[in-house]
Amino acid sequence: RDLVSSEAEGDERLIEAALRPKRLEEFIGQARVREQLSLVLHSALRRNRPPDHVLMSGAPGLGKTTLSMIIAAELSVPLRITSGPALERAGDLAAILSTLSEGEVLFIDEIHRMARPAEEMLYLAMEDFRVDIVVGKGPGATAIPLEVAPFTLVGATTRAGLLPAPLRDRFGFVAHMDFYEAAELEQVLHRSARLLGLRLPEEAAREIAGRSRGTPRIANRLLRRVRDFAEVRADGAISRDVAAAALNLYEVDAEGLDRLDRAVLGALLGKFGGGPVGLSTLAVAVGEEPETVEVVAEPFLVRQGLLARTPRGRVATAAAWVHLGLTPPPGAFG
Ligand code: ATP
Repeated sequence: RDLVSSEAEGDERLIEAALRPKRLEEFIGQARVREQLSLVLHSALRRNRPPDHVLMSGAPGLGKTTLSMIIAAELSVPLRITSGPALERAGDLAAILSTLSEGEVLFIDEIHRMARPAEEMLYLAMEDFRVDIVVGKGPGATAIPLEVAPFTLVGATTRAGLLPAPLRDRFGFVAHMDFYEAAELEQVLHRSARLLGLRLPEEAAREIAGRSRGTPRIANRLLRRVRDFAEVRADGAISRDVAAAALNLYEVDAEGLDRLDRAVLGALLGKFGGGPVGLSTLAVAVGEEPETVEVVAEPFLVRQGLLARTPRGRVATAAAWVHLGLTPPPGAFG
């Protein structure tokens, strides 16, 4: 697994659970989302009603699951967690909806990957707190309406654009989660270091934060690799140099680009002269699924000003050539 992949796997889930902020005030960064959400939650509490359904969009590892847990905690209600791919049939969703308790938060991760029939059932549940269970087939089929306890849906997606409009429109509040600023990631790192019992000097935190792809999950992961490196090579003392040496060893470059990022940029420059080139052609060139290139690599490259998405395809910026130490073709940038 890539060190900078933004998905959490295996043991990491346990560590992540321990490092998760539990309340809104502990949640670092995303100031706008935090304030908006705080209003939504407090007014719901005042009215003693479940809040509007919440949709969160943003790259993996930015804290969508964490926020859904915080929403439930702030409302003092239970939380049920599922994911789009797990809801293959309408019955899968009906089984969950029919057992929700009053006010419960239902979190559906990767909600854009839900099967169509489940999606249609969800529309009705979100709006009317009711589902229609279809019994039988063909002309004899009947729909039996079933009441659902008022609940709050929290959906998370890496691609809000993929959600069908009727689903998107049923969310009262859409939170757009952006990559974190380096200073915010430094705060995340100091908090995690405290929880892990590590001494983390300012300059070391800055070094790690700058290479974390704007993503708390990656920051926490890099911190653990730096800790390992310090334990084995530096008597456990973390310094800026130790952090830099550890991260170089793991092939995270100074801007935080990982192997996939560099592969995408490398292909764009090396094979396609900087573009424009279509997403699927680019994906084939790096041996990845188009969705991986689009969801995992591109948002960060765009934000770093290294790649642009244009109607004619993907294009490298002048900064991309500089970053990879290559010379653009003559006249490429005027
Ligand atoms: P995915 O969509 O891949 O599940 P996610 O967006 O739901 O990712 P989380 O699992 O919520 O991301 O967060 C990943 C880790 O990053 C958590 O363990 C948490 O410790 C840390 N984290 C995320 N956001 C913050 C934050 N704002 N402050 C402190 N730590 C954070």
